[in-house]
Amino acid sequence: MDQSLDMLHMMLTSPEDHINEWFDSEFLKAPLARLASELGAPPSQKTIAIGGMMMSMRHNPGMARPRGGTGALIQALLNLVKHEGGVVLTDQHVSQVLVDDGRAVGVRVANGTEYRAKQAVISNIDAKRLFLQCMNAADVDAADSKLRDRLERRIVNNNETILKIDCALSEVPRFEHHHHQDSNLIGSVLIADSVRHVEIAHSHPTAGDIPDSDPSMYAVVPTVLDPSMAPDGKHTLWIEFFAPYQIAGAEGTGLNGTGWTDDLKNKVADRVIDKLADYAPNLKNSIIARRVESPAELGERLGAYKGNYYHIDMTLDQMIFMRPLPELANYKTPIQGLYLTGAGTHPGGSISGMPGRNCARVFLSSQRPIAQAVNKFKDSFAAVTRSMLGIV
Ligand SMILES: Cc1cc2nc3c(=O)[nH]c(=O)nc-3n(C[C@H](O)[C@H](O)[C@H](O)COP(=O)(O)OP(=O)(O)OC[C@H]3O[C@@H](n4cnc5c(N)ncnc54)[C@H](O)[C@@H]3O)c2cc1C
Repeated sequence: MDQSLDMLHMMLTSPEDHINEWFDSEFLKAPLARLASELGAPPSQKTIAIGGMMMSMRHNPGMARPRGGTGALIQALLNLVKHEGGVVLTDQHVSQVLVDDGRAVGVRVANGTEYRAKQAVISNIDAKRLFLQCMNAADVDAADSKLRDRLERRIVNNNETILKIDCALSEVPRFEHHHHQDSNLIGSVLIADSVRHVEIAHSHPTAGDIPDSDPSMYAVVPTVLDPSMAPDGKHTLWIEFFAPYQIAGAEGTGLNGTGWTDDLKNKVADRVIDKLADYAPNLKNSIIARRVESPAELGERLGAYKGNYYHIDMTLDQMIFMRPLPELANYKTPIQGLYLTGAGTHPGGSISGMPGRNCARVFLSSQRPIAQAVNKFKDSFAAVTRSMLGIV
């Protein structure tokens, strides 16, 4: 059998169908389905079966986290930019990308200040927000008369996002019924009782319902691997609970009309913690403090449509050379000097750095087309020479 056809089949099918083809044990199938659903859809969703491989990637190459937490990675990148003479401004909401004669020439921020670009404007918010919220419609239409309509109508954000719970703990959660060892907490804890449990956890949010009668979740105790993130002997815990952005039947109430209120988010968090405590009975007594962020608050913090932390959905129809749209998929846009990166571009959400790296390469090659072409030619020539000489 042609393995490339098997690969194509795997790209098109659903995690549930793919997992059923290879495994029998529900004990193994449920967490595989849970990890595939990290792509933001239920395991029955066609085209996200590739998410099932996340389990094997946790074994090889294994889990990795920046020492000091994700913030430490950001700090390291900031240090590099500053070291190279760059300046980073935060808390500056870009209200408009300035376009002059079809070329992006800078940005205007919320307080009216304008910053002029020497070479280019690179955006890492998704294309829909960039072109529909941060640009003058006439500038976009002049470059591509169909673009606004295609962004508006084709890009899909289903209704699923995250209610996040952060806890400060006096001790690690002890999974007494599951041969507890602290070292097991170096990875992530998946509460997924069955594939059906995961299916409900991810299909109800799409319909606007909160699947909190029997919560499935993803939990991490980062301080087991990196004790520097808490005072001596203390720990932190974060929990991802997938939940709807817009609650059905609660339109127009709560934060931004989503139905989410402080009272509701805390009630849902209580149920999630109750469920986790079924597995780790010491959990509730060990909580020193907790912070709950509702889907509406997450959406407000990121600015993403429907609180989508991947900016746009990660189904195959919006991936690779179609992310976010075929005409925007190579990090360039129809506006000269305006580039697009971030989770809404290939290869999508998560903290991989790859959209930024790819965009930087496209930007640099447009700045130095001849030097880049020479380098490419040198690389290809060297590769051909090596293969002719049989050198690997
Ligand atoms: C709870 C949670 C847990 C996660 N866990 C993991 C994990 O374990 N591993 C992993 O790989 N990924 C994880 N992710 C996903 C990952 O965090 C995102 O996919 C990733 O951060 C996207 O990065 P980004 O830089 O493209 O966009 P973002 O992180 O969304 O950054 C975009 C930035 O642009 C700012 N912005 C928006 N509009 C404007 C504007 N008009 N002007 C100026 N600034 C603006 C926003 O405030 C934001 O800071 C998690 C996400 C969440 C929510």
